[in-house]
Amino acid sequence: MSSKSINLIISLTRSGSNWLSYILGSSSDSAHLGEYHRPFSSHGHIACRLCEANGFSECKYLYGINNVDKSNAFKFAFDRFQVKSLIDCSKSKEWINYHIDNEINSQFRMSIIHLYRDFKAWFVSERRRNKTLTIDDSISTWININREFSLLYSSHAHYIKVCYDDLSQWPNEEFPILFKKIGLEWNEDFLSYWNYEHHGLGGNGASFQNIGHLTKAKVTTGDDEYYSKHRHKVFYDERWKDELTVKEIKRISESDILMEEYSNLGFRSFTAAH
Ligand SMILES: [Zn+2]
Repeated sequence: MSSKSINLIISLTRSGSNWLSYILGSSSDSAHLGEYHRPFSSHGHIACRLCEANGFSECKYLYGINNVDKSNAFKFAFDRFQVKSLIDCSKSKEWINYHIDNEINSQFRMSIIHLYRDFKAWFVSERRRNKTLTIDDSISTWININREFSLLYSSHAHYIKVCYDDLSQWPNEEFPILFKKIGLEWNEDFLSYWNYEHHGLGGNGASFQNIGHLTKAKVTTGDDEYYSKHRHKVFYDERWKDELTVKEIKRISESDILMEEYSNLGFRSFTAAH
C-alpha cells in the first residue's frame, strides 16, 4: 500500500465540514476536494467552484472528470493534484460505503473523520433555514444521526472523532493531533485557508472566504451579513448566543439525553460548558 491517504469527513450538515476540509487541504501535501461525490453521483455536475467562479468551463485540475468511473475517482485526483492526502467532505453515506466496500482493492489508506458540532450552534444554523424546527425533535435528530455514523464507521481501522468547537477554540492544541493522525504536518497559517488555492466543491459560508469576491462565484451562506463581517478572519461561530432565548438554552442544557451523549463523547467544549 502506498503512503497516500484518502480522508473522508462525515458529519451532520452545517457542522463545519467544509471549513475543516479547507484547513486540512491547505498543506502542500494535501488537496481539498470538497463534496467530491457530486460529479460522480449526478452526471455533468460541476467539479470545482473556484474555476467556475473564474469563468472557466472546466477545472484546471479536474478537467475530464465526467469521463472518470467512480472506482477510479481518487486515483484520478491523486494523479492530478500530486499530493499525498486527499480531503473529501461529501458527507454521503452511499459514497463512503462504496469506497469502504472497495477498500481492499484500493492502494490508498482511508480515514473516516467524524465531525461533531455543539448542538446549540448546529440547531440555530438549521433553524435559520427552517423556522419550524423544535428543540426536542432536533436533539433526537442530532443524537440519532451521529450515533448512526458512529455505528457505521467506528469499527473502521482509521476512524477519527473530532469536534468543531474544540478545533475552533483550541486550534493549536487540537489541530496538530488531527494532522498527525492523518499523516500531515500542522501549520497555524492553515487557519487562514483562503490564502491557499482550493479547487473542488463547496459553496457555503466557509467557501465565501475563498471565492466570495469573484463575480461568478456561487455561494449560499444563509447569513451573508455575518460572513461579510467576518471575511478573511479566523473566527469561532457562536451565533447561537444571540439566536437562542435564555429559556431555550435552559431547555437544551436540561436535556438528559443530550447531556449524557455529551459526556460519553467527552469533547472538551461539550463538557466544559455544562
Ligand atoms: Zn478548479
